[in-house]
Amino acid sequence: MNRLPSFPTPRAAVLSVLPLLALASCTSDQGAETPRTGAAAVSELSEEEIMERAREIHARVISIDTHIDIPNNFAAAPDTDPGVRGRFQNDLPKMREGGLDAAFFIVYVGQGDRTPEGYANANQVARTKFDGIRRMAYEMYPDQIDLAYSAADVERIHAEGKLVALIGVENAYGIGTDVAQWARYHELGARYVSLTHNGYSDFGDAAVRGAPRDRDADAQWGGLSPLGEEAVDELNRLGIMVDVSHASKETMMDIVARSRAPVIASHSSIKAVADHPRNLDDEQLRAIAANNGVAQTTALGGFVKVQPQERADAVAELRAAFRIESGADIQALDSEDRANFDAGMADIEARFPPATLADYIDHVDYAVNLVGIDHVGISSDFDGGGGVVGWMDTSETLNVTVELVRRGYSEEEIRKLWGGNLLRVMRDAERVARELQGDS
Ligand SMILES: [Zn+2]
Repeated sequence: MNRLPSFPTPRAAVLSVLPLLALASCTSDQGAETPRTGAAAVSELSEEEIMERAREIHARVISIDTHIDIPNNFAAAPDTDPGVRGRFQNDLPKMREGGLDAAFFIVYVGQGDRTPEGYANANQVARTKFDGIRRMAYEMYPDQIDLAYSAADVERIHAEGKLVALIGVENAYGIGTDVAQWARYHELGARYVSLTHNGYSDFGDAAVRGAPRDRDADAQWGGLSPLGEEAVDELNRLGIMVDVSHASKETMMDIVARSRAPVIASHSSIKAVADHPRNLDDEQLRAIAANNGVAQTTALGGFVKVQPQERADAVAELRAAFRIESGADIQALDSEDRANFDAGMADIEARFPPATLADYIDHVDYAVNLVGIDHVGISSDFDGGGGVVGWMDTSETLNVTVELVRRGYSEEEIRKLWGGNLLRVMRDAERVARELQGDS
């Protein structure tokens, strides 16, 4: 989840999703700037042939999205039933429609006060989300989806014809300050953990400060805290991957230096392409590659494409005109005001076009060219702020492979991007855990 200090734009409501072929024709020139293996051969293919190749590759590789958020009451109410095609960007019917094979469902807790009450609340939120994911897999849809605890599980469950659920934890706040609790999280299925969200945690400094809690605070730890070091050691011992997304650069570099196993960035994009504090700079990308880890570029519009100040000004003006200070204020508008507000937003979107799938794949291209195909992957951050035109929900996942084929990526390269690299890192984390536990 990446709710930065902004407001929800009704993007999905005002933009119709481009048909595949329209998307294709507007992106073909960008592929030519970054020719890849097989690019020459691809340039001779017709649109139909590109689609056919993409469909074949998409069916053969295991596609893994490393960051999909869930609501607090996931799988506990009719409108959060993952088996029903609903209002969320991800559910099981959309996964099947888009050919997304596996997803990390996220146990996210927002950073709050570092007090006993704050820890207790966060722990409750985390447990509720673990319960929801496990209920989906074990009680509601065991015939459709199964929970994977290892890289081998991912391959086995996929071979059985089921969707694969994995669990990632976003923000260590839910364990309070007791790293011994990671063992319980591990039992519940957690296979990666990020130590921070927005706002500084007990474990280290974050890329984005929280508000208002640490608005005036300087970096509190200067990177990873002593407790954060303990947490990395324990995650390594258990075989849980350490996720550096949301960490500050200093914290992230400290984690890479500390970790005995390769790390992942579960949902971050590329700073050289879009200068956002949540994105990774070249030095960070090289550090992840040297660590044999993987950077899972993410399709969140604000990370993919930096919009000019004029856009923010126009939005602020529109919101002021409708006295809107929060998402709830938008919901509270009467139908006439809401229609006018939505029209105003549509006008802003037309003047400042939102990020597209082609913009997103520019991040993949940049990272691959900088650190190689073995250290880059794909994530959406769906239901946490993610989505770009052309990949607005899980049902459009095939489009990602189409764009990769168009840019000349080979089947083997696409396999690595879509989860091969992630499974390699997961296996390395499992191996390091065996070594640290002394039974290898
Ligand atoms: Zn996030």
